[in-house]
Order: sequence, then structure tokens, then C-alpha cells
Amino acid sequence: MTTTPARLTVLAGPTAVGKGTVSADVRARYPQVWLSVSATTRAPRPGEVDGLHYHFVSSDEFERMVDAGELLEWAVVHGRNRYGTPRRPVEERLASGEPALLEIDLQGARQVRASMPDARFVFLAPPSFDELVRRLVGRGTEDAEERERRLETARVELASESEFDHVVVNDDVHRATDELVEIMGLPTR
Ligand code: 5GP
Repeated sequence: MTTTPARLTVLAGPTAVGKGTVSADVRARYPQVWLSVSATTRAPRPGEVDGLHYHFVSSDEFERMVDAGELLEWAVVHGRNRYGTPRRPVEERLASGEPALLEIDLQGARQVRASMPDARFVFLAPPSFDELVRRLVGRGTEDAEERERRLETARVELASESEFDHVVVNDDVHRATDELVEIMGLPTR
């Protein structure tokens, strides 16, 4: 049996599960996979580069992008900032047949499922809820109020696992990356 390479793969999962780490590992070890760069209204964290990690935009600019239909999907994440996937770069990759990966939240994944049902949907799961809490606290980039907000989102998101085509447990970053890449139908190393 041959596996048809997935044109578009959507990776979703709860906050702090390690979506960003897995995406970075994909970028480093599988440069043939193109990763979408989202637009966001949140402020950059130390070390984050505009245009590489995110397109950091103002609320007005985000609004303009939404009104102009420039986003494939968008959502308010953790009840606060807006995040969205610029449509055109994704369409360009799909047109050229290159594998593309979106790392987005659950609301965004549902919107993509509605507009692009042929995409492959992968849920990145923590080994356990306790481990998720440990990772979120350990990251140290959010204050207590923001952490609580994100954990509340995570509780809801964990319950949505069954909506996905595949579940990958992030017990080890390299292993999870390899499993994701295999699901995308690409050769692993
Ligand atoms: P962070 O602020 O930690 O970088 O990301 C917060 C959440 O926003 C993560 O769960 C991430 O998956 C989600 N996110 C990032 N980019 C997008 C996007 O373009 N669309 C949607 N819907 N969610 C996104």
C-alpha cells in the first residue's frame, strides 16, 4: 500500500503541549515541510522574530485582514489575542504540491475542516493532564492569571481529541515529530 502525501496537515492541541517545539523540530529536521506563519495581535516574546515565528500585527491591521478575506481561519485564543492563518501562502504551497503544515488552535482547526475537509487533522496530546500543567508552569512565560486562563482552555481542548483523524502523544519531541511527518506521508529519517 502506498501513502498519498497529505497536501495540508493541521496540527492542533492544548496550550503548552509542545506544538511550537514540535513545529520547530519539523522545521529543523524536515526542511521540505513548509510551516505557515500566523498573524497575531499578541506582543512578541523575547527571542521571537517578526515574519519568522509570527507576523505581529496591530488590532487594526488584523481587522483589515479579516475584512479583506485574507485569513483562511482566525480565532480569539485564550479569550484574549487574535491569531489567524494568512490564506495566500497556504494556497500557493498547495498549488505547487508542497507539503504544508498549520499549527493552530482547535477553533481554527474546526474552521479549516469546514473549508478544506481533505486536510489531515492531527491532535498533539500530552502524556497526562498533570504533565501539561507542569509544562505550562515550567515555561514561565505567562503570569498566574494568564496561566489559569490557558489551563481552562486546555481542559476544553483536551476533550476534543476524538474530532481528529490522528492523535500523537508528545512524550518525546523527536518521536512525536517523526510520527507527525509519517502521518503527512513523508519519509522519516
Ligand atoms: P502562543 O501565544 O503560545 O504562541 O499561541 C497560543 C495559541 O495560539 C496556540 O495554541 C497556537 O496553536 C494558537 N495559534 C497560533 N497561530 C494560530 C493561528 O493562525 N490560528 C489559530 N486559530 N490559532 C493559532
